[in-house]
Amino acid sequence: MSALSLYNQPSPQFDSRQAHAIALLKRVAAAHGPLTQASSLGAEDMVVTHLIHLAGIESGVFVLDTGKLHTETLTLIAKIEQRYSRSVEVYRPRNESVVKFVRQHGEEAMYQSVALRKQCCDIRKMEPLSRALAGKGGWITGLRREQSSDRAEVAEVEQGSERVKVNPLVEWTWGDVWHFIARHQLDYNALHDRFFPSIGCVPCTRAIAVGEDFRAGRWWWEGSDLKECGLHIEPAMTSLPPSETSTA
Ligand code: SF4
Repeated sequence: MSALSLYNQPSPQFDSRQAHAIALLKRVAAAHGPLTQASSLGAEDMVVTHLIHLAGIESGVFVLDTGKLHTETLTLIAKIEQRYSRSVEVYRPRNESVVKFVRQHGEEAMYQSVALRKQCCDIRKMEPLSRALAGKGGWITGLRREQSSDRAEVAEVEQGSERVKVNPLVEWTWGDVWHFIARHQLDYNALHDRFFPSIGCVPCTRAIAVGEDFRAGRWWWEGSDLKECGLHIEPAMTSLPPSETSTA
């Protein structure tokens, strides 16, 4: 069965959530632009890219190509560019940092210790992220509260030390995401048809079994509840009330 036929189950609030997300993006773009979207090319991020299109706002879309992404993931870049007649910015890690790290610790360093896994994420994701966000007033993500206990409190708009972070899908359910994909006939990552709800790098992502948590397939060997690479952990983030996301 395809992910589409399995998960396309909208909540009763679907229409209002879609309208709210579009209005939110317009408000934040007016107040905090220029914006850019951090896309992992997973289901939520395909939804966000289309919401940006529907909102008619100016926003970049970027992908952090760690050098370890699945072919199924990378394939979506060309599809986005074709559908929206736009370019997707691809940020890669600095070659010298990767070569040095792999030479010292090997290609499978992430399995050796949490510290080495985080070092790999720092080199392949965090440093390129800082380049992708340079000069931007805000960034857009596909975070949803339902994804994990660590994300249960995430706000729609968070004020970081240098820019805002807007999360238009915070209240969406997994069924809402797939209903949106079906309604707008969006391309989606083929790995979702193989029970990968959350998709990252090849060595650090696996399919989940029935009953497992949404993010159980990420860094599963660490046995930690904290399933984050650092992208969405910023100590100084504060929630912004709706009035402060508008220009009014
Ligand atoms: S998710 Fe895994 S392969 Fe990707 S950057 Fe982090 S540790 Fe490295």
